[in-house]
Amino acid sequence: MSILIKNVTKKYGEQKALDDVSIKVNKGEVVALLGPNGAGKSTMMKIITCYLPPNEGEVKVFGHDVLSESLKVRRVVGYLPENNPLYPDMYVREYLEFVAGIHKLGSRSKQRVKEMIDQTGLELEHHKKIGALSKGYRQRVGIAQALIHDPEVLILDEPTSGLDPNQLVEIRNLVREVGKHKTVLLSTHIMQEVEAVCDRVIIINRGKIVADAPTHELQLLNLTNRIIKAEFDQPANFEQIKEINGVVEVQRENETTVRIFVKSDEDLRAHVFKLAVEKNWVLLSMGYEDQTVEQVFRKLTFNT
Ligand code: ADP
Ligand code: MG
Repeated sequence: MSILIKNVTKKYGEQKALDDVSIKVNKGEVVALLGPNGAGKSTMMKIITCYLPPNEGEVKVFGHDVLSESLKVRRVVGYLPENNPLYPDMYVREYLEFVAGIHKLGSRSKQRVKEMIDQTGLELEHHKKIGALSKGYRQRVGIAQALIHDPEVLILDEPTSGLDPNQLVEIRNLVREVGKHKTVLLSTHIMQEVEAVCDRVIIINRGKIVADAPTHELQLLNLTNRIIKAEFDQPANFEQIKEINGVVEVQRENETTVRIFVKSDEDLRAHVFKLAVEKNWVLLSMGYEDQTVEQVFRKLTFNT
């Protein structure tokens, strides 16, 4: 067992940020903690990484208790906090050497810093100041510092938030690569991220676990469909879009706009375009929408 969370409650004053939460994460799993803002994701991660004590319940990482054996827990856990706090005036290499010092890596420091720079793709940036890096590269530095002491468990709090689409793909790839050798718990509010990176998803809302399942089961529930939004110049019977192979559902947003739910592994935009030409519908715009976690909740509570 990598992470054991048993009946954990955390209160801020009267408010329960976590309410009797229990989770087990096995060694080697890559697990997403999915939930809207305020769900309790960061609170959970701060407890696992010994930054906050729980009010009730038990948390163990590789058998070490977060309250009574926090030094041991910190040795086996790497943590990328939300908003990735870094020192903008430090140079990348200098910062990683500093973090290696905190972990008392001693003579291993230089070698580990070099390995981290290679592994996270910072070769061309390591001599720059952190403040001069793009957001994507800053995230790489954040992941490098989390990994420097070669922890068994990696906790990543919204590692892709605020990244542009290219940076997002790069960081997801990096997390997937790291996940081959580590236990990873990452938080996100983007469904597509779960699909791209994780074996399993735990959905949390208002401090309670509302679902815990392998990612492929969510796919079976059609929770991970992608949505194409298409706007036409005038109303028509867009129902025929449903006949395209791979389309799961067509919802009208208004007279001229539809949202087309498609299986996530297919890009059907060309088919929609061809059908529009065939039917003489003038297509004004078409693009993918990310499914939000709120939409997923709606499905979890109404459709299933
Ligand atoms: P998430 O990371 O899922 O957005 P958080 O764990 O940050 O959620 O927050 C869970 C709830 O606890 C929210 O309602 C938030 O406002 C509250 N909260 C978080 N941190 C504090 C704090 N330091 N003091 C008071 N309330 C807090
Ligand atoms: Mg958070």
